[in-house]
Amino acid sequence: MADTPEQALTRLRQHFERGLTEDLAWREQQLAALESLLLTEEEAIGAALRADLGKPAVETMLSEVLGVRREVRVQRRHLRRWTRPRRARLPLVLLPARGEIRHVPLGVVLVVSPWNYPVNLVLVPLAAAIAAGNCVVVKPSELAPRTSALLAELLPRYLDGRAVAVCEGGAEITTALIDGGVDHVFFTGSPAVGRLVMGRAAVRLTPVTLELGGKSPAYVDRSANLEVAARRLVWGKFMNAGQTCIAPDYLLADEAILEPLLGAMTEMVRELYGEEPRNSPDYGRIVDDRHFARLESLLATSGGRLVCGGEVDRASRYFAPSIITDLASDSPLMAEEIFGPLLPVLGVADHEAAIAEISARPVPLCAYVFAQDKKVLRDFTARTRSGSICTNTVLEQFAASSLPFGGLGPSGTGHYHGRFGLETFSHLRPVLAKARRPNLKLAYPPYSKRTKALLRRLL
Ligand code: NAD
Repeated sequence: MADTPEQALTRLRQHFERGLTEDLAWREQQLAALESLLLTEEEAIGAALRADLGKPAVETMLSEVLGVRREVRVQRRHLRRWTRPRRARLPLVLLPARGEIRHVPLGVVLVVSPWNYPVNLVLVPLAAAIAAGNCVVVKPSELAPRTSALLAELLPRYLDGRAVAVCEGGAEITTALIDGGVDHVFFTGSPAVGRLVMGRAAVRLTPVTLELGGKSPAYVDRSANLEVAARRLVWGKFMNAGQTCIAPDYLLADEAILEPLLGAMTEMVRELYGEEPRNSPDYGRIVDDRHFARLESLLATSGGRLVCGGEVDRASRYFAPSIITDLASDSPLMAEEIFGPLLPVLGVADHEAAIAEISARPVPLCAYVFAQDKKVLRDFTARTRSGSICTNTVLEQFAASSLPFGGLGPSGTGHYHGRFGLETFSHLRPVLAKARRPNLKLAYPPYSKRTKALLRRLL
């Protein structure tokens, strides 16, 4: 029988206190076991993702298996170097002494993940948490039930069950785990739930990392190469049927190239997914009926001109890649994060207008700009705010372990990937070791005139 949150936390806490997870060889062995899980169970992972999300095989390989393997390997390869105590220079007044910064684990940490990349968004934080020497309890999303069940079966089989636990279920399980007392919450999901999680964690002063979403904009300038922009935008927007936190949520296009861009994107949808995207093996499905109904209602009430797509099939939860333009500024498509294969496109006068439009909204997770004009790229990079920014591409920042990944303000708090992940799950503990001598009385009360004079000279 599966552990209750209380049982899992008790077991992990007891194990953490034994100190065994601090052993670097143990950590390396766990990361190797995680790599072997990915290699051996690739087929089972693919089947679970197909059942939950109709996830195409190549997307599974790229975003769920290879992406995670790269991160696990990076953690394993650099673990010893990244966790090596670092000497710190000390000010003269403290000498003779030695300063050092050590990476110490946080303790028992909780990883809560969403359903859209239900393997990646569990295993990448898990790998970083193990690399940092923590015990980890994982709470996968109940909306990807096949993947959640598979992780609950595989993780205890491959990893050390004394240090890693999986608790399946919905909101009540997350809440029970936070209330049960963890040392850090790493949450990936919506801003609305992020707010609840942060509030719950605040009761016990538990620190949080929040990887949230929001409306990430893309802008295409008149100087952009339209073929390149169309291909990358269509690929990034409609991957996983638009259910990607870093996908462009809405598109701002320079009015000078709006119509040719719409033409190029319509053509690109055909090139990538065929005349009938529902028959394409490379196009996914909507996760459940609730999200399907939400997207249907957005489409029905958007009030714009449908450029392509619009076909839906409720039974198979197929929602065609759809592009809509000529929208009123109060269109429901421009209110909340869309999180589906609907792309609103708004014409703007120039890149200044695009920057103004973006700056008037909450800070997004990502911003994307397509342009050849260097001034446009410079202005866009300097004057917009977002968790990350890409020029002339989308999504690819997620694939680099050398870049921190995370949001800013309403789109998230904290970051991970590569070394940044290891640091998120570590406490940087300063150790100051003082020599026994000299032990000058001058430094202690009662303070003399000489002390004051000396301090004045030092200042
Ligand atoms: P969600 O916030 O509904 O759920 C995320 C997790 O929180 C799930 O495990 C769920 O069981 C749990 N949960 C739900 N309600 C809860 C509550 N009241 N209290 C405690 N826990 C609760 O998000 P989702 O629908 O699974 O995912 C979509 C959202 O996640 C989008 O906003 C998307 O942008 C965001 N997202 C962000 C990233 C990122 O890396 N920044 C990645 C993927 C998805």
